[in-house]
Amino acid sequence: MTQVITRFPPSPTGHLHVGGARTALFNWLWARKNGGKFILRIEDTDVARSSEEMTQGILDGMRWLGLDWDEGPYFQSRRIDLYNQYIDQLLETGHAYFCACTPDEVEAMRAEARATGAVPKYNGRCRGRDLKNGPGRVVRFKTPESGETAFQDLVKGPVAVPNAQLDDMVLRRLDGMPTYNLAVVVDDVTMNLTHVIRGDDHLSNTPKQVLLYEALGRDLPRFAHVPMILGPDKKKLSKRHGATSVTAYRDMGYLPEAMVNYLVRLGWSHGDQEVFQLDELLQVFSLDHLGTAASVFDQGKLLWLNNHYIKNEPIERIASLLDVHLTERGWGGADENYLQSIVPLLQPRAGTMVEMAEMAEFFVVEDESVPMDPAMVDKFLTPEVREHFGRLRPWLAEMPVFDQQSLETMFKEYLGEQGVAFKVLAQPLRVALTGKTKSPGLYEIMEVLGKDRVLRRLARVSGREEEPIG
Ligand code: GLU
Repeated sequence: MTQVITRFPPSPTGHLHVGGARTALFNWLWARKNGGKFILRIEDTDVARSSEEMTQGILDGMRWLGLDWDEGPYFQSRRIDLYNQYIDQLLETGHAYFCACTPDEVEAMRAEARATGAVPKYNGRCRGRDLKNGPGRVVRFKTPESGETAFQDLVKGPVAVPNAQLDDMVLRRLDGMPTYNLAVVVDDVTMNLTHVIRGDDHLSNTPKQVLLYEALGRDLPRFAHVPMILGPDKKKLSKRHGATSVTAYRDMGYLPEAMVNYLVRLGWSHGDQEVFQLDELLQVFSLDHLGTAASVFDQGKLLWLNNHYIKNEPIERIASLLDVHLTERGWGGADENYLQSIVPLLQPRAGTMVEMAEMAEFFVVEDESVPMDPAMVDKFLTPEVREHFGRLRPWLAEMPVFDQQSLETMFKEYLGEQGVAFKVLAQPLRVALTGKTKSPGLYEIMEVLGKDRVLRRLARVSGREEEPIG
């Protein structure tokens, strides 16, 4: 059996877009599932629009998603000689010819065709002229004038286009650079690709590529053109709909597992299943279940999946991610064990790691830096409450074990003795310890903060810093 070989060939003219990442993932999964090979190729022949920075960003995004490649990255800009060899071959075999028509002349031919309702294309003027190479000459493909070009697509089914509709495409431009269709076919042929899975925005290129395969006497790979990803307004997903670059999601605190899981479901399904572990995905992924309808990018579902992974990943992993996001916000440097004790409290609540970092702020900043909104202080930290805090401190200080259960018992006793209800103190305590009116359970956060922090924070708001405790 032939080894499955797939590829991802981004153009480094932008970030790794979620749509690109999705096709990369499908290609990667198909190669991995079949024990095949996944090739990364950078299509940078558009020198003016390509950049090294974008290439690096794309590689970062791939690495972050865990989409490792077996070969490459190849750079098309370094393979120009190879493309020229193939162009020479096509010239020699009569499948291509030099064309001396200027861009203005070609435009005029198109306009003329349009005016008569014909397909706007180059009229073939230089086809029979047998021109040699020379300045101002491009190389064009001699498209068959009759018949049709057909292929079987794994998503679209049979596709056929009358050759009369196809232009004599340019293979080499005036600047000597190969065109996209030529370079892609030479690469796909020389890299022995068995499957080409890409967005259906390329569907109209495929018949032209098929003609090139045929002219080169090569077998076709299996094509799968997956429908585009749309925004909620059913228009092609773009920046208007929010972040579209994969690394932006990383920076917003999404887990790569969540992103991979989300992306795979955009245009592929396995019954109604939504959550897939990677090893399971590698078992069940197949090209038979690629969807035929465009899918809508649903931020809410991505967030839901992210929270799912945040909740279920091991505490150590989430703690180290939390550390990264805290450090980015200037709150880094917390002890590893301390972070690991914070994480379980926030795992059920945080949609993203950025949210978790924001929720964790009060745990990790210095006691005197816990943000205190003056209006909140006025509202909750009344003189009566401050009195209680002052009285509570020795009770807390004397606790031999500072865990949730002991705290609960101690508070019951204190409240009983003082004749006050828990609700009188609960919200003020929360404000004093966290600077917020919402947080995980009070006893839980007190246990994690530990006795010393709790005492210092209560002292801070009860105005008794100087007073010795206990
Ligand atoms: N460089 C093309 C793109 O980024 C790849 C097209 C293909 O998969 O053949 O759209």
